[in-house]
Amino acid sequence: MGNSLKLFKVRGIDIRLHFTFPLILVWAAVQFGALSGYFEGAIFGVIVVSLLFVLVTLHELGHSFAAQYYGVPVKQIVLSPIGGVAQLARIPDKPLQELVIAIAGPAVNIIIAVLMALALLIPNHDLANINLALSGTAGLTFTAVYTYVFVSNIFLAVFNLLPAFPMDGGRILRALLALRLDYAKATNIAVQIGRVFAVGLGIWGLMNGNFFQMLIAFFIFGAGSQEAKYTQIRHKLKKYTVGQVYSADAYRLEPNYTLQQAVNMLSYTKQQDFPVVFGERLVGFLSGSQLRAALQTHSAYEYVTAVMQRNLIPVTPHTDLFTVQNRMIAENLEALPVVSAGDGRFLGIITRQNFNRIHKPSNNNPQEPIIVDAV
Ligand SMILES: [Zn+2]
Repeated sequence: MGNSLKLFKVRGIDIRLHFTFPLILVWAAVQFGALSGYFEGAIFGVIVVSLLFVLVTLHELGHSFAAQYYGVPVKQIVLSPIGGVAQLARIPDKPLQELVIAIAGPAVNIIIAVLMALALLIPNHDLANINLALSGTAGLTFTAVYTYVFVSNIFLAVFNLLPAFPMDGGRILRALLALRLDYAKATNIAVQIGRVFAVGLGIWGLMNGNFFQMLIAFFIFGAGSQEAKYTQIRHKLKKYTVGQVYSADAYRLEPNYTLQQAVNMLSYTKQQDFPVVFGERLVGFLSGSQLRAALQTHSAYEYVTAVMQRNLIPVTPHTDLFTVQNRMIAENLEALPVVSAGDGRFLGIITRQNFNRIHKPSNNNPQEPIIVDAV
């Protein structure tokens, strides 16, 4: 999701606005202004649509916090005219975890709906006529804004629960299927059903002349296909082991090497991450980024042992690549040391590039899974 503007950060998650976002505000001003025939209507439109996106953001944070709870890093949340997208580093393969993450978004809206309904018990606090409020013709009043937000919040939860993968309902469906079926099969069924919904939504939008709905339909269709491919590629990795792809001839550092010697190594090899090996024994690991960071704070003549990672758990040749990739994603690593399962002897390293031996480089980093929420 390039071309977006960072607004702020919550628990390490960037909240960003897509560069097309202002279009929805312009659309709201024109649409509501034209319907009510007044400048007031335009202001109303901008206010309610902005509040709608506050609801979307809270919804995305619901998904994101649930994901973080399961140790899944969340890269960013992007708001665009058609809704919000939460970009996760991966989707947990445990169906129950995906289920919780998918439900957590709409659950936020349901809590908001309950609170807003309770607030209606306050004397003199009532809803406006819903039809008038939704069309922006109930006037620019607190009650009209409240009514619009109240109704659209409920709509947000309900719409995203449609089983149109990768929207929330589709993810819930996939998770439920995966409790009983093979994961890849469950994904395929959810994606097929999602496509039917996407096409239906597109045709419905075309008949109503609803441009945004058509856009959402296209987006859902595309994102669903992407994730089907992503799932396929990831699960193929389960069939391969570290032993089949790791680099046995990787460059190594020795404990008495200085940071300067490590930097020199970077200049004559493409290798970025180095095991520190003494004899046959792995004593530590120094990634390219750690090395560069260390040079800011340490003298180039210090030994690599002063800054290397000592507790990075190595993998063995029997470890499957699926597990390795999950670890690389979760711990944000580019490479891992490989040791023999029997005597712990150092064997080599496995890097993200080694995965190219399994599939085409273009498939190496399939687009990260996203949770799509439409407004
Ligand atoms: Zn959602």
